[in-house]
Amino acid sequence: MTIATSTPITDTVAAARAVFDTGSTHPLPRRVAHLHALRNLLADHEAEFEAALWSDLHKNATEAQVTELEVIRAEIAHTLRHLRRWAKPRRAPIPLALMPARARLRPEPLGVVLIIAPWNYPVQLLLAPLVGALAAGNTAVLKPSELAPATAAVIARRIPEYFPDGAVRVVEGAVAETTELLRERFDHIVFTGSGTVGRVVMRAAAAHLTPVTLELGGKSPVWFDDDAHLDAAARRLVWAKFVNAGQTCVAPDYLMTTPERIPALVNALRTAIAEMWGSDPRAEDHYGRIVNERQFDRLTGYLDGVDVAIGGRRDRAERYLAPTVVVLPAGTPPVVGPDAAHPVLREEIFGPILPILPVASAAEAVRLVKTWDKPLALYVFTASAQTRELFERETSSGAVVHNAGVVHVAASGLPFGGVGASGMGAYHGGYSWQTFSHLKPVLNKPLALDTLRMIAPPYAPREIGLVRWLMRRG
Ligand code: NAD
Repeated sequence: MTIATSTPITDTVAAARAVFDTGSTHPLPRRVAHLHALRNLLADHEAEFEAALWSDLHKNATEAQVTELEVIRAEIAHTLRHLRRWAKPRRAPIPLALMPARARLRPEPLGVVLIIAPWNYPVQLLLAPLVGALAAGNTAVLKPSELAPATAAVIARRIPEYFPDGAVRVVEGAVAETTELLRERFDHIVFTGSGTVGRVVMRAAAAHLTPVTLELGGKSPVWFDDDAHLDAAARRLVWAKFVNAGQTCVAPDYLMTTPERIPALVNALRTAIAEMWGSDPRAEDHYGRIVNERQFDRLTGYLDGVDVAIGGRRDRAERYLAPTVVVLPAGTPPVVGPDAAHPVLREEIFGPILPILPVASAAEAVRLVKTWDKPLALYVFTASAQTRELFERETSSGAVVHNAGVVHVAASGLPFGGVGASGMGAYHGGYSWQTFSHLKPVLNKPLALDTLRMIAPPYAPREIGLVRWLMRRG
């Protein structure tokens, strides 16, 4: 006989389920109230969030607003604008063979949603999925990253104040606590983080047949050949690459261009970096730090034996690594992934190093992208519509962005997610609604006209013939 033991974690999940089971989170006014509560939490404590993000990541207040808090506010505003329409049952078509009948899709909440977040955008990636989970009428358990401890502490302190009904609960901790949490049954899990831990999460979810949304990473490539807009492209690129010191899941990972373009491109990148972070980025309050020494050592290891064209300065005590551009030698075998010639091409960089890889042509770049996992994002800087079409048609990635990087994440109308090894499922705006709701088909066929008699034995060949004909129509 097994005796169920109660722990703070099992109690937390049971309490979230008990709240869901009362049905109190289902009515539309309560969902709206929850979204208002989340909006108020951000408004009342924005200084606290800013201080926590500074302490965890050296993220300055403006970046905290633009890349974290505003993304959540935009999700809330978008959701409040559309929620009533999304929540309405929508009519669904019925084939002629089943007529007369009516059908509709009735959205219903799933239950208890677990949200596990990483440290790099520790507020946005925890609370943006929460917007969708609450809008759809679920309760939620949040697991912030232990590697952003100041932010996790603010979340753990403030969530209970703004959700006194217990619809949202927080479990703090690292691997041990997350492992325990993952033994529990949830109705949906959203995990944002590495593919390695994503596999752990999916295995645990399989035990309860819990559906998962996995928001993972990978190497997001860039193609550049737009000579006419070199400076503008360089500015867009360096912001996307070096914001949050390169620790962004959709950051441009490596850049491909033809060899003769490299000198001018490097000059333009150097100018753009100086424009944004001056001659000493370490002194600027809007340049981030590497999250810990382990990551710092991994990143600086990439710089051994390569041609550092820009940056490269570092200070381990401060976990500072300057915005850095390296040029890989011509003739570097065109392979990305574990078999790549240079370590910087073997795994996601996730730091402020941009390698430039000389390739012969856009077609060669497409071939290179396809040598490894499908990336989370792919960025194309070209004036040629044909080249844009080439990348869109021939490669697969979570998203394609032309002439910019990272910013698609801020569009609530676009699904945010990966494909293949960069993730499964998506969220944001209406896609969150679909992720966190079950669109239950409801079919209503009046008994008065007993048309289903035609498909029941004893079969009459003429009637069956008519049914088969009708089934192919509508
Ligand atoms: P991570 O996978 O190490 O950790 C993410 C979360 O999982 C944390 O909350 C952590 O506590 C938990 N965790 C860690 N090890 C665990 C284990 N063995 N069992 C159970 N839980 C465990 O990721 P990270 O270092 O925080 O973030 C970096 C990765 O996340 C990068 O690969 C990046 O690309 C990816 N990422 C993806 C997105 C996206 O939206 N697709 C966004 C940000 C980061």
